[in-house]
Amino acid sequence: MKKQQGTKGATPKIAKGNGCEHYKKCGGCQLLNMSYEEQLSFKQVKTIRLLGRFCHVDEIIGMDKPYHYRNKVQAAFGCTRGGKIISGVYQSSTHNIVSVDKCFLEDEKADEIIVSIRKMLPEFKLTAYNEDTGRGFLRHVLVKRGFSTGEIMVVLVTGTNIFPSKAAFVKALLKKHPEITTVIWNINDKRTSLVLGEKQQVLFGDGYIEDILCGKRFRISAKSFYQINPVQTEKLYGTAIEFAKLTGKERVFDAYCGIGTIGLVASDKAKEVIGVELNPDAVKDAKINAKLNGKENISFYCDDAGKFMVAMAKEKEKVDVLFMDPPRAGSDLPFLKSVATLAPKKVVYISCNVETQARDIAFLCKNGYKVKKIQPVDMFPHTNHVECVALLERKG
Ligand code: SAH
Repeated sequence: MKKQQGTKGATPKIAKGNGCEHYKKCGGCQLLNMSYEEQLSFKQVKTIRLLGRFCHVDEIIGMDKPYHYRNKVQAAFGCTRGGKIISGVYQSSTHNIVSVDKCFLEDEKADEIIVSIRKMLPEFKLTAYNEDTGRGFLRHVLVKRGFSTGEIMVVLVTGTNIFPSKAAFVKALLKKHPEITTVIWNINDKRTSLVLGEKQQVLFGDGYIEDILCGKRFRISAKSFYQINPVQTEKLYGTAIEFAKLTGKERVFDAYCGIGTIGLVASDKAKEVIGVELNPDAVKDAKINAKLNGKENISFYCDDAGKFMVAMAKEKEKVDVLFMDPPRAGSDLPFLKSVATLAPKKVVYISCNVETQARDIAFLCKNGYKVKKIQPVDMFPHTNHVECVALLERKG
């Protein structure tokens, strides 16, 4: 195997430990003790270790300014033993809240808003939720920010279905942060580690934000998935589209499509695009996104990607290019078997977990495919997560 060193778009070195006061307690940034160059080499080596047996691994695409890239920030709320309200992140693998006001990864405006909300709670005689007793009011705050549009969504997640003086609270919050474009109240009264509950109510604005990515406009709601690092996402999608080499004649399938981002970007260069996604809120967004961008050659379905693929294989549907971007667990066997049956000429596999990607690629390689290109992209600087795009082509 060719030795691969160096990185595209690498940044100036950062100091070891990086001056983050939360580094040891929080555990979210596993690689913060390395310079950014070292982090990129670490990810390159990891990708080669897991995927290098299939194909040459191109040099990882690094981020020019690898800070404050997270456009979605989630803070957990709780109380110290002394009764002081704190907000921050869960220490990794625990439910202990590490109090964090500023984080190197998170959007700075989002962090400011979260601190303001925490300070407002006592003024409004509101409490923080207590996970042990299941009592108390504010459980989480979720902030999403449109990178290009600047639109900001604040979701207040409460453990109770009563929100005393909610109108006054929202008014005070908007006075402090007039840049907020929508406020949502979400109720999560279940003993669960999920952040959002089912019930929610829009308290201000439209209940969604929009962002522009790869020249397309996307609506994003509270519960829909949207890539958290928009700068690197443009590079990721750019690579995926470039790998597919679309000519305008293809029937494209976007599996695990979220709010339809990849499919909509691909739709400019394809005859027809079909997207499938399990989350109904994301599918709703995807359908609206097709309209927002004036696209009529794309349709979205709410279903399990595996089941949908099996049905497509039964119907002997034609697919020329498959984009697949599954969650960390990767794809299931019914999905992968149906890929082998449908036999698209190209499969562009985007993954946020190279371990499961290697497993799934091994299956596809035993079932008619060979890997032609592998491109890691650093979507999550300072963490040990590696995002990677692989191009597979049908043999023969
Ligand atoms: N391609 C999108 C979303 C990728 S994240 C983007 O780049 O933004 C993975 C998506 O897969 C999430 O939206 C999640 O809701 C969806 N998902 C998870 N399990 C699924 C399944 N079994 N079938 C279809 N979609 C699924």
